[in-house]
Amino acid sequence: MEREHNDRIVALVTGANKGIGRAAAERLAVLGMTVLIGARDGRRGEEAAAAVRAAGGDAHAIALDVTDRDSVLAAAKRIEAEFGRLDVLINNAGITGSGQTSPMDATDQIPSTVDLDMVRAVFETNVFGVIAVTNAMLPLLRRSPAARVVNVSSHAASLTLTGDPDGPFAALLPSAAYSPSKSALSALTIQYANELRKDRILVNAVAPGFVDTDSNNHTGHLTPAEGAAGLVRLATLGPDGPTGGFFSEDGPLPW
Ligand code: NAP
Repeated sequence: MEREHNDRIVALVTGANKGIGRAAAERLAVLGMTVLIGARDGRRGEEAAAAVRAAGGDAHAIALDVTDRDSVLAAAKRIEAEFGRLDVLINNAGITGSGQTSPMDATDQIPSTVDLDMVRAVFETNVFGVIAVTNAMLPLLRRSPAARVVNVSSHAASLTLTGDPDGPFAALLPSAAYSPSKSALSALTIQYANELRKDRILVNAVAPGFVDTDSNNHTGHLTPAEGAAGLVRLATLGPDGPTGGFFSEDGPLPW
């Protein structure tokens, strides 16, 4: 039987008009959630939401630029008015800083020559945007009986992996923008998890793997649906699930 919005789990995915975020939104809709497609371009958000609805899901486009305070506050206000609460927040919106060049191949992110304005722009989206959205949505998440926050990170966030001169990142270019922004997101994940543990809001970070999207000019080897699997798993954790963790689809990752 079709349930009303307020009986369904309500999930917001930022940057859900394409790529991994869109695939996560599609999967959550298949699982029966009401999915709010966050998109900074209203038209592209509406296109994605319409596609989810055409497949039988319940989806609504929400105008949301994570770097724009007014946009973030307006999105929270609209979600409160239309849905009354939020159960799942996936902080997926992110930029590489180097357009469609994978940050690990980007010569413009090499620390000694990086443009500080580019670093600022990357942190504005990947780090400060997450704080802005999470804090705006927290009053709505607190109304959920089982809220989950998923921060979309990267293997490149791992200080353990990137700090190993013989490790998997040894052959890749050093990055002063994207990789540190995701390491900062790791730190934020732990701090939010620590604050929200008493409220039983589970906050985790996930590395989707190397996924075929615009962000790496479609050089990734995983499909967006495969990349989204870890986001969906952390968005659907049971009450005994972890909090303050960092995971790939293969299991826990080192910080
Ligand atoms: P993508 O296809 O480029 O999608 C990124 C999404 O974020 C787009 O919807 C984009 O919107 C949105 N976005 C960017 N800035 C925004 C802002 N200020 N406000 C709202 N939305 C904004 O990239 P993706 O590969 O799916 O990336 C999704 C997440 O996965 C990112 O956090 C990325 O760092 C992470 N990740 C990806 C990979 C990979 O291999 N692809 C690996 C590790 C981690 P527009 O369409 O308007 O630009």
